Amino acid sequence: MRTHDADVIIAGAGMAGSTLALALASAGLKPLLVDPQPFDSQLAPSFDGRSSAIAYSSFRQWRTLGAGEALAPHAQRIEQILVTDGKAPGASASGPSAFFLRFDSSEIADRSDGEPLGYLIENRQIRAALSATVLAQNITVLAPVAASGLEVDAGGATVILTDGRRLSAPLVVSAEGRQSVLRKAAGIGDIGWGYGQSGVVATVRMQRPHEGVAHEYFLPNGPFAILPLTDNRASLVWTETTKAAEALRQASPEAFHSHLMRRFGDFLGTVEMAGPTFIYPLSLSLAERLTAPRLALIGDAAHGVHPIAGQGLNLGLKDAAALAEVLAEALRNGEDIGSDVVLERYARWRRFDNVTNALAFDSFVRLFSNDNRLLRLARGIGLAAVNRIAPARRFFMHEAGGGVGDLPILLRGGAL
Ligand SMILES: Cc1cc2nc3c(=O)[nH]c(=O)nc-3n(C[C@H](O)[C@H](O)[C@H](O)COP(=O)(O)OP(=O)(O)OC[C@H]3O[C@@H](n4cnc5c(N)ncnc54)[C@H](O)[C@@H]3O)c2cc1C
Repeated sequence: MRTHDADVIIAGAGMAGSTLALALASAGLKPLLVDPQPFDSQLAPSFDGRSSAIAYSSFRQWRTLGAGEALAPHAQRIEQILVTDGKAPGASASGPSAFFLRFDSSEIADRSDGEPLGYLIENRQIRAALSATVLAQNITVLAPVAASGLEVDAGGATVILTDGRRLSAPLVVSAEGRQSVLRKAAGIGDIGWGYGQSGVVATVRMQRPHEGVAHEYFLPNGPFAILPLTDNRASLVWTETTKAAEALRQASPEAFHSHLMRRFGDFLGTVEMAGPTFIYPLSLSLAERLTAPRLALIGDAAHGVHPIAGQGLNLGLKDAAALAEVLAEALRNGEDIGSDVVLERYARWRRFDNVTNALAFDSFVRLFSNDNRLLRLARGIGLAAVNRIAPARRFFMHEAGGGVGDLPILLRGGAL
């Protein structure tokens, strides 16, 4: 019998990869993480200026895996979400838009155990909490070094690293993000397209309390979201055409602030920048398959989606929970965890949800980043209809909170 370096080698120690490592360790498996970024550098404020809306079910998983305590002081409860379809931003328009949608956590309190609609957390705080938990559990992290190739035979898979080392395991997981090297090495193609849009991301501090309310305005160039953070700050995700975003990147701080205030409005008093501005080009990418012999894809390596619904990472965390559950069960049954039959169970579980969500977000982008009068009317009627029908509102809230569908145990708050 061949000895391996680990049960599962995970290429990519980002948020999805680290979560998978913790989930596997909780099930008695031995994971090993590999990443070209030194683990510490991921924690710097300049590394990733984004914040993530985390579904309440995703947060349950982190609690179960031991990262909840470190995350709690940085997690802002989202109590309400207000969606406005406006030609002018709702916040600064003279009156409220005729069409709006209002989600309130109190409406689903019976089924979500009083949890909020979700939590808003800065990515650097998520990375810090996950990396501290990974290190506390003595999970091996090889960094900085990247995976550069994959060889597979009947007994296992070998990952070739950029420094020439070769590591073997029964299973390899790519959590490498959109440019996954191992996905390509395994011959899995991907489909996708650009949106001609970029997300301008900035953190601001407001004068008046945000009270846990998230706002999303659908403007002709794309959505403008004000997402509440702890310490009365907010993360802005301001979608613009790539050209306009580039002009914003070049703008002086004063010009940037004045453009920002035209969209933000003055309903939260004065607004100050509380960190650097980041620009992310937006595109869709979907892997043609979730698995290849002795390889599984999770997170953005499998599906990179538009941030319009704040669900990209949540999908990746669901992949991690589902894969860990499948592998834990295979281990209990004495199966080969890298075998095709085990991997097919994972692919079957996640394939449909990933593809339907990616395409739903794609349709939202097309429907909402558009100034066509007919489309504006149709979506206004749609928003108003959903707003009037309480079960429809509750459905969308549970969907966004990750509380519906065939949920992995970890997302239900249980342990493996
Ligand atoms: C503007 C914006 C806002 C967003 N907001 C939200 C939100 O509110 N909620 C939400 O759920 N999602 C959101 N998302 C999506 C979310 O950020 C991504 O889905 C998430 O970061 C993907 O995580 P990941 O771990 O799969 O990949 P990544 O974060 O891309 O991590 C990949 C890791 O793999 C490493 N790596 C790369 N190549 C290799 C290699 N060859 N070998 C080993 N390691 C490698 C990288 O160094 C990195 O650490 C947003 C996205 C954008 C652009």
